[in-house]
Amino acid sequence: MADYGSESERMEALYKEIFTEAAQAIRNEIDKFKPEHNCKFCTIPCDIQKPDIFSVFPPGCPYGAWQIKALSYLTNEYRAKLRVTKKAIMEKKKEYSCTKCGNCCKLAVSGFNPTQLKQRALRGDKYAREFSSIYVPYESEEMAEAICPEFYNKLKDLMDEGERLYFYYCSKLGADNLCSDYENRPDICKDFPLTALKVLPDTCGYMPWHDAVERQAMSVKAREDLIAFYKDKIG
Ligand code: SF4
Ligand code: SF4
Repeated sequence: MADYGSESERMEALYKEIFTEAAQAIRNEIDKFKPEHNCKFCTIPCDIQKPDIFSVFPPGCPYGAWQIKALSYLTNEYRAKLRVTKKAIMEKKKEYSCTKCGNCCKLAVSGFNPTQLKQRALRGDKYAREFSSIYVPYESEEMAEAICPEFYNKLKDLMDEGERLYFYYCSKLGADNLCSDYENRPDICKDFPLTALKVLPDTCGYMPWHDAVERQAMSVKAREDLIAFYKDKIG
């Protein structure tokens, strides 16, 4: 059985490495927009010692345009490039297929309990609506563990400290391990796994895809998170 304690450490270390690379790459992009300007000759009243992308520049300061241009580039052209990469990742998924292990039907997790899921569904959350339409909660975590021990332990070991997860199963899975309502299964089943960073059971036919694109998918996520951070700070 795989050692998911070290798997969780591996993923954390990998994401940290990728995030550091992404932070430098984004910073390089931002610096390309930095204007050639010498504050020594500026007459605008200002007490900024070392202009940075996060500085609060006074009106009329040439660095104000730096912030606007850099942010516009990141949130438009750069994001568009990330979308292309994401599309390529999902295209690659087509090289793999479901091997009908049934584990994603036997065990699904959500950070929301059934009531919260229904509330979210009522507010128009399609994922919550579909999830609630097929998955029912396990009566206890022990039952979830007994049905799918490896996947349960993998999920538990990859959870953040203090994180609360709810465990569900689909009542439409037949005794033959196949979906009893295959033609009417919702999109969350048809499109499973929805992202390359989804935690999958080791038995899943999409595991090799996950392994092949994990680094790329983490890189996209890190860059998206960083753009959101810059947008929040200077937008
Ligand atoms: S609806 Fe079918 S495919 Fe979807 S989780 Fe249930 S059994 Fe699996
Ligand atoms: S876990 Fe993967 S291989 Fe197993 S039934 Fe779900 S999609 Fe298919």
